[in-house]
Amino acid sequence: MNNAIFHFDNPANEPVKSYAPGTPERKTILDELDRISSEVIDIPLIIGGKEIRTGDTGNVVMPHNHQHKLAVYHKAGEKEIKMAVEAALKAHKAWAEISWIERISITLKVAELLRNKYRALINAASMLGQSKNVMQAEIDAACETIDFLNFNAHYISRIYENQPHSEPGILNRIEYRPIEGFIFAVSPFNFTSIASNLNMSPAVMGNTLVWKPATTAILSNYYLMKIFMEAGLPDGVINFIPGQGSLIGNIVMSDPDFAGLHFTGSNRTFNQLWQASSANLPKYRTYPKIVGETGGKDFVLVHNSAGVDEVATALVRGSFEFQGQKCSAASRAYIPESLWPAIKERMLEKLSHITVGDVKQFSNFMNAVIDENAFNNIMGYINKAKTSTDAKILHGGNGDKSVGYFIEPTVIQVTDPHFVTMEEEIFGPVLSVFVYKDKDFDKTLELVDNTSPYGLTGSIFAQDRNELVKACRALRYSAGNLYYNDKPTGAVVGQQPFGGARQSGTNDKAGSYLNLLRWISPRTIKETLIPPTDFRYPFMQEE
Ligand code: NAD
Repeated sequence: MNNAIFHFDNPANEPVKSYAPGTPERKTILDELDRISSEVIDIPLIIGGKEIRTGDTGNVVMPHNHQHKLAVYHKAGEKEIKMAVEAALKAHKAWAEISWIERISITLKVAELLRNKYRALINAASMLGQSKNVMQAEIDAACETIDFLNFNAHYISRIYENQPHSEPGILNRIEYRPIEGFIFAVSPFNFTSIASNLNMSPAVMGNTLVWKPATTAILSNYYLMKIFMEAGLPDGVINFIPGQGSLIGNIVMSDPDFAGLHFTGSNRTFNQLWQASSANLPKYRTYPKIVGETGGKDFVLVHNSAGVDEVATALVRGSFEFQGQKCSAASRAYIPESLWPAIKERMLEKLSHITVGDVKQFSNFMNAVIDENAFNNIMGYINKAKTSTDAKILHGGNGDKSVGYFIEPTVIQVTDPHFVTMEEEIFGPVLSVFVYKDKDFDKTLELVDNTSPYGLTGSIFAQDRNELVKACRALRYSAGNLYYNDKPTGAVVGQQPFGGARQSGTNDKAGSYLNLLRWISPRTIKETLIPPTDFRYPFMQEE
């Protein structure tokens, strides 16, 4: 038994590779894209470490070339969903009791496998399956996943080293127990790293899980699961069950041992799952922990002291990278009348260089949106703008789904700051701009704060420090991640812990110790060294 006390230092973030012409990583990823594109793999369920094929299958296609099939995946039915719950419960005891160093060792090994052996695989699978360009895949699937894993080791050692004070004669301890029962991880399509972290954060704290991946991210998520297993994750700690969300959700959430939900996705789904947990509450052995990060309507607020070029660049990158399908993507901008002509000109000039297309063509800044539903939904918003007198399309506005789900980067100028595209999450390459009178900056602060139900990310651009501070105060609850003079996307693990409140989620800050704290159920143990033997207290003695 190794009884050493371990401490993991704050790690460095994983360096982002450039994929510039002539670099070795560029050649490797191009080869890997060709390899993955030339095969159609069969994706089973993985329950208790065993591959299960149900025969009820669906196809995995490339969003940018939807006739190209990448894989066939098997869907979980009622029987397999129940098996996954049983497997998670069966694995719980050994996983909870093993030393946390052994758990950390497995997660660090996953990070190492991703850093070298599988970097190209996980990036290429995310590029082809989720239509990310190579840079978007690299910062997500490789770097952020590695960071989540490495930083968790550091945070855990900080959490576990906390012990309560003990008075003389007493020894107090806190045992950081995993939660009794199993955790349900439900992951979104848009970040491979989130899919990993929704599982690995609870797992590293000693919990076992049932994992429902997003149907549109199954390829990269399946490879993640295989890498977890190669790193030595014991059977049943994570059980991978693709399939229909509502079927899986209903069965899993009605199990008496359901003890926690780790979710990222839309509000609609999160609300359904929370309501299911409320409806099932009397059945549960433990009050479940509900952690969910949901939608956003992220703003860029520009003061008239801001730099024009930096605003134009932030709007282009913040709104259109990964086709605006980041929960943090800029989707509404408030720009002062005095700066608008210059910002508009620079922004439109930059946008004129953007091409949308296949991920293998590295000159494309943008690729396809995730599927036909997303395409139709986004085009619906754009068409509303086309037919409204309150809105004018300044750039883009067209989509074509014949080969892939391609939508041009679209900028809408609105005259009504409450026009629907300023208020609702669109989750696509659409930026709405409202131009305000310079003297109305204070009123605009209220507008930014009150316009949307969300509170995820936002940026303030200003050189005037007093105005910057004023805006920061006024927008205290408008964003959980606020940026000064920067785009509202691109949070880095260990540097900008991520999450927002209001309708954006429970704000448990993925990529920080705050998230890990949700996955424990501490037990306090008090030991009295010399226990009393007389029940009477001193005050009871005669004078
Ligand atoms: P989604 O809600 O459609 O799907 C998320 C997951 O829920 C998928 O795995 C889906 O299959 C599953 N699901 C759907 N219905 C279910 C049900 N009834 N029971 C159980 N599972 C069910 O979301 P999405 O389209 O994959 O992701 C986009 C959304 O995610 C956007 O709203 C975005 O803002 C949000 N998001 C938020 C953050 C954040 O940190 N706040 C990060 C990434 C994405």
